[in-house]
Amino acid sequence: MSVNTNRTNTKGKKHSSKKKKKNSTGLKVLGGFFKVLGTVLLSAILVVVITGSIFATALTIYVLNYADTTTTVSLENITANYTSRFLYENPDYDENDRNSDEYLLYYALKNSNQHAVWTDFQSIPQNLSNAVVATEDERFLSHDGVDFKRTLAAFVNVFIPIYDDEQGGSTITQQTIKNLTGDDARSGSEGAERKIREIFRAMNVEKAYSKEDILECYLNIISFATWNYDIIGVQAAANYYFGKDVSQLNLGECASLAAMIKSPAKLNPIEDKQLNKDRAQYTLRKMLDIGAISSDDFEKGKKQLDELEVTGDIEYSSVTKYEDETKDQGDTSWFMDDAIFQAITILMDYYGINQTEAESKLYSGGYTIKTTVDMNIQKEVEQKMLDDSNFVTYDFEDDTLEGAFFCVDYFGNVKAVVGSRNEKQGSRVFSYASDGQRSPGSTIKPISAYGPAIDSNLVTYSTILKDEPIKIKIDDKTTKEWPANYSETKEGAWTYNNYPLWTMLQNSTNTAAAQLVKMLTPSYSYNFLQQRLDITTLTIDDADYAPMAIGAVGTGIKLSELVPAYMIFGNGGKKFETTYISSIEDKDGTMIYEHSTSFNQVIDPSSAYVTNRMMQKVIQSGTGTSAKLNTTDLVGKTGTAEDWTDLLFVGCTPDYVSGIWIGYSEPKTIPTSQYQDSSRIWKNIFGDIAENEPHKTFDVPEGVVEAKYCTQSGLLATNSCKSTQTGYYKQSNMPDYCNLGY
Ligand SMILES: [Zn+2]
Repeated sequence: MSVNTNRTNTKGKKHSSKKKKKNSTGLKVLGGFFKVLGTVLLSAILVVVITGSIFATALTIYVLNYADTTTTVSLENITANYTSRFLYENPDYDENDRNSDEYLLYYALKNSNQHAVWTDFQSIPQNLSNAVVATEDERFLSHDGVDFKRTLAAFVNVFIPIYDDEQGGSTITQQTIKNLTGDDARSGSEGAERKIREIFRAMNVEKAYSKEDILECYLNIISFATWNYDIIGVQAAANYYFGKDVSQLNLGECASLAAMIKSPAKLNPIEDKQLNKDRAQYTLRKMLDIGAISSDDFEKGKKQLDELEVTGDIEYSSVTKYEDETKDQGDTSWFMDDAIFQAITILMDYYGINQTEAESKLYSGGYTIKTTVDMNIQKEVEQKMLDDSNFVTYDFEDDTLEGAFFCVDYFGNVKAVVGSRNEKQGSRVFSYASDGQRSPGSTIKPISAYGPAIDSNLVTYSTILKDEPIKIKIDDKTTKEWPANYSETKEGAWTYNNYPLWTMLQNSTNTAAAQLVKMLTPSYSYNFLQQRLDITTLTIDDADYAPMAIGAVGTGIKLSELVPAYMIFGNGGKKFETTYISSIEDKDGTMIYEHSTSFNQVIDPSSAYVTNRMMQKVIQSGTGTSAKLNTTDLVGKTGTAEDWTDLLFVGCTPDYVSGIWIGYSEPKTIPTSQYQDSSRIWKNIFGDIAENEPHKTFDVPEGVVEAKYCTQSGLLATNSCKSTQTGYYKQSNMPDYCNLGY
């Protein structure tokens, strides 16, 4: 019983009472049995000397080991879990309203039950720092990282565990290091080793950092955990226990927090209000002793302790910033999955670490990540993709028929992404938008054939091509005629008729695409897609006719790469890197990533616009008419894979590029034969959004000429041409005047 009472006493008292006992016992023994014990004593001395030598040798080895190799502990190397916040731009932000937030919380990414919020030293009340110093390490401001008086006692304790000393006699600096390194062996030689390591590290940290830096780190990483919740740092503790921001704490609350540090689960005021109060009063007295507070303050603090109001509400751990942060936010969205993946990649690059390390850093590093999502669009398309009625014809109510949607703006910012047309099952699951690699079908034609051919001045808007196959060499002796045209009515139909180029795109005539790729060469198209349009899934086998002309790409293309490739047709030929994230700050507010606003000028602005006008025909009178919008200009392209296993539509409006894919998880023929279906579904999903945007037409760049051409020759019309139409031309590559009339 008496031992138990002793153990709850403070360290100092315990220490002296044990010493006294030992001394008085020793005297009695020496008095009574001097002779007999002389031998014993001699032996004991020998034992001590031998043990001491062994110990000294061991110590020397340890010291030599660690004096040289002591790793410098970086205070930035926090191991506690801080919630990383993914934010989005508030669509209703009002800059004149002080209560309006520019960014809102999209998702709080954290390790399950731990609550930690980083706070700057400036926000921490002086009373709180003083209370913690007074309770934990009163000589903090004067020592060099190690309090040798306490260390010696703790060191002995490692071998002869007589003190119940949970802090191990550590200074605030040492505790910080222990926390950061997770190095906390307590007893035996490992404990001693740890102690020595810690001493050197502490002295190094004191050389490298100011007292303020060390204290800031310490106050942010110490535990205030209850049995149920892992509360880390003074901010989360202030939030949780008192429902306040740390800067708002009164002296009594500061003392109450400082009082918990030794053993938070037992000493917190929810677990034991009286125990917390007793120890908080001791804290106040220590503060008075070291002159941190006046006696008036001391009385005031005691009164505040009497009136202490404890909330203990986990919902409050977010009072500093975002309301929903501590709630279970459920599964991540399709967009969040991709943003998380990109954030991991960014952290890998920034710190030069592997994926696992980057992932754990992201889940615990307290990063502030601003995403590019447009929450209105994201929510609307998520909901529309789940609605079977948007998947119009045939048995599209079949849930095994999958779908995906992707939307990006003309600076590469991803605005919305949906990875399935079924309810998302869990976080970070397979997405048909960003993981799925499928045949792009004819949606490849504008980016592999038409766009680059116009840009290379090989053809114009109205160049006349004949609908006939090209001859492909199979081996030295044989060639084959290729490709067949897809048709909604019959297979392989070659008409051998002449058509102006735009008509071939409008009707998705395969022979024309093959002829263009032949002019360019398949490897030109391949390099164009891979190097200039950032299509990453192509392999060298794809540098061939079938992949480049009709999209029969071996390993497929991701919708998340196909859609952004089209951005060149709506922004004057520029390709910005696709991003889900506009910036990342670490928990100290250091900017570690900002999305680059630089771009590649992939094709000339006039080439981009001429191709854009041809793609407008696809919507006005071609395979994409079902996507036509009422008030907003839309240009785009449908795509159908061989055997109708994949249906696609990619469309550009003046504000966005977006696209849809439909198919089965195991590719098989979709029960439709209408090109129209994909464009109709696209309109069902995105039509309203596109119409609501402010820009209704595409800007016409310099260097584009609108002119009449002769439908016979495809050349600029003269007065003698019988039939003419309007075409769009690059000033730098105007067709000649028609000479058929002469
Ligand atoms: Zn003519």
